[in-house]
Amino acid sequence: MVQAKKWTLIKLFDGFPKHSDFQLKEEKLPEPTDGQVLLEAVFLSVDPYMRLLSKFGMKEGDVMIGSQVAKVIQSKNKAFPVGSHVVANCGWRTHTVCNEKDFVPLITPWPKDISLSLALGTVGMPGLTAVYGLEEVLELKQGETLLVNAAAGAVGSLVGQIAKIKGCKVVGSAGSDAKVAYLKELGFDVAFNYKTVGSLEETLKKASPEGYDCFFENVGGPSSTVALAQMKTFGRIAVCGNISTYNDTAPQTGPFPQMVILMKQLKMEGFVVYRWMHKNEETLKRLMAWVKEGKVKYPEHITKGFENMPTAFMGMLRGENTGKAIIAI
Ligand code: NDP
Repeated sequence: MVQAKKWTLIKLFDGFPKHSDFQLKEEKLPEPTDGQVLLEAVFLSVDPYMRLLSKFGMKEGDVMIGSQVAKVIQSKNKAFPVGSHVVANCGWRTHTVCNEKDFVPLITPWPKDISLSLALGTVGMPGLTAVYGLEEVLELKQGETLLVNAAAGAVGSLVGQIAKIKGCKVVGSAGSDAKVAYLKELGFDVAFNYKTVGSLEETLKKASPEGYDCFFENVGGPSSTVALAQMKTFGRIAVCGNISTYNDTAPQTGPFPQMVILMKQLKMEGFVVYRWMHKNEETLKRLMAWVKEGKVKYPEHITKGFENMPTAFMGMLRGENTGKAIIAI
C-alpha cells in the first residue's frame, strides 16, 4: 500500500496567497483496479491559473489543482505499462490512483536528451497556449510588430521566440533587468523592465513608433489601457491572461477600453488553450521539433522538493521565475 502526500487548500485565498492557506496531508491509497494506474509524480507544475481558478469552483479542503509528469509504478491498463510516463491532471499529489481520462501520454518518441519537465512547459500546455494565441487568435503574419507582456515567463518567452521564427518584430516587457537581458538573448528586438521604465507610453512609442499590429496580453490592468492606445488601426489583441488582477480582492475599475477599440477598430479576443485540443498532437510535435532544432530555448525555474510547492507557487506569482516554474521531486 502506497502512502501519498497531497497539498490541500485549507483556506480560500484572500489577496496574495499565504503559507497558512495550504496544508500538507498524507493518505493511504487503494490498489488500482481494472483500467487504472498508480502514478508517482516526477515533475509538478505551478501556474497562474491555479490562483485564478481557485476563485471559481475550489472549496476549502480541496487538493490544489494542477498537472504533473508522472511515472506509472503499478498498472492495470495495458496501454500504460509500469515505467511509462504520462501528463496527469491530478493536482498537487505525490502519488495518485488514476483513470485513463485523467492523463495523456507524452508525445512519442520523447528524445532521451530532453527533460520530461518540458511536457509541462514548452512542449506542454504553455507551449500550446503560445502557438494557439499567435496562430489561431492573432493570425500573426510575417513582418508584423508584436507586443507581449510577462514576456520572460513560460508562455511569454515562447510567444516572443515563435514570433521571431515567423519573421516579426517583437517587443516584450518583464519585471527585472535580468529578465530583460534574457529576453534580448532570446532574440527579442526590444525588451524593457516595466517596473523601472518610468513612462510605459513613451517606452512603447519609442520601441515601435508606428505602433503594434498584435498584442499578446498576459497581464491586464492599467498597463493594458496604455498598450491599447499604442495599437495600429485594425490591431489585434489576444487576451491570454490577466495576472495583475488575480490576487485582487475587489475588481479594478476603468479607464474603459471601448473608445480606443472603436476609434482604432481593434479586434480583441479572449481564448482558453483547450479550444484547440484536437490540434494538440500536431502542435506538440511542432514545438518539440523547434526545441530539437535549437530554434527555441526553454528556460525553466526549478524548485526541488514536493514540500516546497506553496513556496514555488507564490514565488511564481511574485515573478521569481524566468521561464517555466517547475517542481522536481
Ligand atoms: P509565467 O511563467 O509568465 O509566470 C507568471 C509571471 O507573471 C511572473 O513571472 C511575473 O513576471 C508576471 N507577473 C506577476 N504579477 C504581475 C503583475 N502584477 N504585473 C505584470 N506581471 C506580473 O506564467 P505563465 O506563462 O504560465 O502564464 C502567463 C499568463 O498566461 C498568465 O496570465 C496566465 O494566466 C495565462 N495563461 C492563459 C492560458 C489560456 O488558456 N488562456 C493558458 C496558460 C496561461 P514579471 O517578473 O515579469 O512580473
